[in-house]
Amino acid sequence: MSKQISQPTRFIHRQAWRTQAYAQSYKHDLPIETGQLHEIAAGVYLLRLPMPFALDHINVYLLEDGAGFTLIDCGLNTSKTREIWTQVLAQAGPLKRIIVTHHHPDHIGAAGWLAEKYDVPVFITAVEYEVVGRYSDPDRDIVQERSPLWLEHGLPAERVDDLVKNIPNYTRLVSPLAAERVHLLDTRAPIQIGARRWTPIIGRGHSPEHLSLLDKEAGLLIGGDQVLPEITPNIAVWPGSDQNPLFSYFETLEPFLAIGQEVLHLPSHHQPMYGTDYRAQQIYSHHEERLGALWSACTVPVSAYDLMPVLFGRMLADPEMGFGMGEIIAHLYYLESQGLLQSELINGVRHYKQQMPAN
Ligand SMILES: [Zn+2]
Repeated sequence: MSKQISQPTRFIHRQAWRTQAYAQSYKHDLPIETGQLHEIAAGVYLLRLPMPFALDHINVYLLEDGAGFTLIDCGLNTSKTREIWTQVLAQAGPLKRIIVTHHHPDHIGAAGWLAEKYDVPVFITAVEYEVVGRYSDPDRDIVQERSPLWLEHGLPAERVDDLVKNIPNYTRLVSPLAAERVHLLDTRAPIQIGARRWTPIIGRGHSPEHLSLLDKEAGLLIGGDQVLPEITPNIAVWPGSDQNPLFSYFETLEPFLAIGQEVLHLPSHHQPMYGTDYRAQQIYSHHEERLGALWSACTVPVSAYDLMPVLFGRMLADPEMGFGMGEIIAHLYYLESQGLLQSELINGVRHYKQQMPAN
């Protein structure tokens, strides 16, 4: 008779997060039209920009700032986005500065182009800017650099080659950002924008120094990608970056669990919402459940690639395969860091197996 092994509870990151009952979250019913400015709070405008991906849009925000605007995020550097910006800014009035939440192309893509066209500075956190430099380096092929990681984690060599071909180069989606335009953000100090005072909240895990902005007094949060209403932010391992991003994500989720129903959450994707605390707990529970499922599947040595159907219910297609591999590896690294899995290389592929807690 086989002995049933009960699931350990050690992948629970914070017991309090499981037991605290948060009210709920609900969507703001604003009908959003792509390319149109929507005033969602006094002096705060939402603009939706299109993207040619499965995730087909990003929300960016224009904040009244004296006689002009401060812009939070920019959209991809595509001709469609640039066209919308030219129209919108001709109507809205002068752009004063740009703040980007993080280095991902949908957020920073058009920043360099906007900064040149309108002669404005771009503010970004130091670690995000370091990644922009690395990803834009003409002497490096960042996508190709991911191959050894994917091979080590079981992605077959021919699939690695296809994946490298199917992931667009960073600089195809991101306009060159001149160093003299860039100002590094002091994340410890509030940022005054017009009449509003925004407190930075730094998130890690989705990207290394992601910026969210909270105007506590007015009950407004510009969330970026850190906590999203309808999808979970991708948390993945990439070469040369955070090697335990899920741990980092959990560690920086705490402030969002303290943002209640009274705060209107302005996310980078989908509808604005209320109930950030509830949503943050939901995302946390989702990862906890995924950690449990992965751990349970590791009764025999398996690779990250073998585990893809466990995490996603199917094998992913390119280019999602790259995000998917990174996400599984992030969960496995987390479980290994907690002493719940151990790994070894078998024929060059890393295999994970349950490590039973001694009791
Ligand atoms: Zn992002």
